[in-house]
Amino acid sequence: MGLLEGRVALVTGGAQGIGLAIAQRFAAEGASVVIADIDLDAATAAAEAIDGPAAGVRADVVDPDDVAAMVAATTDRFGRLDVLVNNAGITRDASLKNMTLEQFRQVIDVHLQGTWLGMKEALAVMKAQVADGRADGGAIVNMSSISGKIGNFGQSNYAAAKAGIVGMTKSVAREGAKHAIRVNAIQPGFIDTAMTRAMPADAQEAATSSIPMQRAGQPDEVAKVALFLASDLASYCTGITIEVTGGRHM
Ligand code: NAP
Repeated sequence: MGLLEGRVALVTGGAQGIGLAIAQRFAAEGASVVIADIDLDAATAAAEAIDGPAAGVRADVVDPDDVAAMVAATTDRFGRLDVLVNNAGITRDASLKNMTLEQFRQVIDVHLQGTWLGMKEALAVMKAQVADGRADGGAIVNMSSISGKIGNFGQSNYAAAKAGIVGMTKSVAREGAKHAIRVNAIQPGFIDTAMTRAMPADAQEAATSSIPMQRAGQPDEVAKVALFLASDLASYCTGITIEVTGGRHM
């Protein structure tokens, strides 16, 4: 029996990288999975490659209508929503001097507005499920970053958004607690995905050499922590943030 047997999970930005690893790991533990991504073809292809019940939907997490539609698509297709992972993310790195207001706003919007909208829609569905006895609770996992704890050169937008996600997680954890809806966050360090492969080679080397475990993390190493937080293994955890960094910035 898998850790998420009979549960329905929705993962934003799930077509690749960490989100895809989470969708695959959840499916392997028995969940039905909806992969939401800004790229419909990529979301559909990712869902088709999942071993188990899965669907792909297009959603821009910044758009309130898209977010409402992605949650509705999940309940229409699988009848319920037990786990939401707010994972979609972008970077627009530049020093403060060079960063444009547009770059600042894009990153704040995707991470903060996207996570807020996702939680608003999901919490309503999860609360209703608990109220009418169809669920014992729910779980929301928000993807922060170690950048939100320590700040990174050129990431005044991203670090602010990722730190904001931690505060938002704690606030909604307080609101969800009496309904047995747990809300937690993950702060990955340097994980081997398209996002980090886009960094200059010397920056990648510098990042790796600062990690006590001396290597980048793999997406599935974040996915395993998301599984913990999403499952009953974490039944008494809410409002926490787990670092997945290979010991970096401890
Ligand atoms: P990734 O490989 O770039 O994947 C992110 C996914 O989100 C992509 O499929 C992307 O689509 C999608 N996306 C972007 N904007 C979106 C939007 N507005 N609505 C819906 N989907 C959108 O990134 P990743 O490395 O797996 O990162 C996943 C999460 O972990 C992000 O929140 C990131 O900030 C966080 N994180 C990553 C690292 C790391 O080292 N990789 C470290 C700490 C935190 P497109 O490709 O089409 O834009």
